[in-house]
Amino acid sequence: MLAKRVGILTSGGDAPGMNAAIRTAVRSALHFNLEPWGIYRGYHGLINGELEPMDSRAVSGIIQRGGTILKSARSEHFKTPEGRAQAVDMLRRHEIDSLLVIGGDGSLRGALSLQQEGITVVGIPATIDNDIPCTDYSIGFDTAVNTVMDAVNKIRDTASSHDRVYLVEVMGRHSGHIALYSGLACGADVILIPEVPYDLDQVCQQIQKAAQAGKTYNIIVVAEGVRRIGGGNGTTSPAMQIGRYIEEKAGIETRITILGHIQRGGVPTVRDRLLASRLAYHAIELIFRGVGGKMVGEVDQVVKAFDLDYALAQEKQLNPDYRRLAAVLASL
Ligand code: ADP
Repeated sequence: MLAKRVGILTSGGDAPGMNAAIRTAVRSALHFNLEPWGIYRGYHGLINGELEPMDSRAVSGIIQRGGTILKSARSEHFKTPEGRAQAVDMLRRHEIDSLLVIGGDGSLRGALSLQQEGITVVGIPATIDNDIPCTDYSIGFDTAVNTVMDAVNKIRDTASSHDRVYLVEVMGRHSGHIALYSGLACGADVILIPEVPYDLDQVCQQIQKAAQAGKTYNIIVVAEGVRRIGGGNGTTSPAMQIGRYIEEKAGIETRITILGHIQRGGVPTVRDRLLASRLAYHAIELIFRGVGGKMVGEVDQVVKAFDLDYALAQEKQLNPDYRRLAAVLASL
């Protein structure tokens, strides 16, 4: 009998640890006597037929590499019924009736839509933003937070030599997970995130009071998605806006660092490699058992499968304990 084929794709924003997930998915598929097929460039590549079988050697030496060997892409066409029909047709033509999707919120929504077209699909959460419900962490988040921590450590070295306010803008268009975790881990004086309204005049007062008490510099971690001064979602970075405001109101020099895409790269941490491997194995096991429409996450260190439609209808909460801690230590 021919082995059942399973397609594997990475989609949306890349995240460190995706390669560890691909490696485990391919080798677990072989373990279950499934035939793994790599699909390049996410749903875009699927529609265009960019796919090929993978063997164990195809995933040698990648566990330590950031990015994704399967490449990633975004596809507006896939969001249309015609695009999805082409994707399903491509899978059928290659006799692939099950799929592992490794990606963020949008990619998992795409996974659900393919499940509804009759493909057996399991998703695993991979995004540095950590904004996926039904899992404590998504693949790539830990590495990203460590990258931010490393950068802020360096900024702190120079900061301690000058009397200034240092603003570090981190990723997180809709969520403050990176800012909250990295801000706490770096000992930031202020953390600004989209989920919590802030009062800049209060921040200025805090900085001035601290300066009077002998504090020479402050570090503020800002999520890129915080509310812009004056509303709207203008093109000026919020850290720059906030920096200007502090200079004008508090009369203290500011320096801005926008970390940008370095947060996506780098060698995945132990936590990300283990999480990616664990989730990928369980996802392939589900597919082996013929179970689809699931997202596999890790909650309180236990691997759990959730219905994709349920998971995508939930709202990811910030860790309440860290939120409280930040309110005490870092004026959130
Ligand atoms: P991420 O997976 O990192 O959140 P995107 O939001 O860009 O990244 O989603 C990646 C791709 O998933 C999109 O380019 C699109 O092809 C597909 N996708 C996103 N949202 C949906 C949706 N609601 N239905 C079907 N496919 C979607």
